[in-house]
Amino acid sequence: MSERSIEEFLTDLEARGAEQDERERMLLGSLDEGISAVRSAASVVSRLKSASESPSARKQRPRFCGHCGAPLAAEHSFCTQCGQPVEI
Ligand SMILES: [Zn+2]
Repeated sequence: MSERSIEEFLTDLEARGAEQDERERMLLGSLDEGISAVRSAASVVSRLKSASESPSARKQRPRFCGHCGAPLAAEHSFCTQCGQPVEI
């Protein structure tokens, strides 16, 4: 290997290294974006789950009869005051 080709080789290596750094930065940046997107999606999913699936969360929400306004227990499907079916 001549001195000239070694120099070219090193220059080439440097160029590749710089390119790789740039790619790594981009990769890490998009990885960060992906992680935060997944995190926010997960928090949305857990919020939806607690809102729709958790029975305790459902019981905590006050429900009232749409006809007479009487307070209703979560398990009631008919109003205990006026007997109208409860809209869920
Ligand atoms: Zn009622």
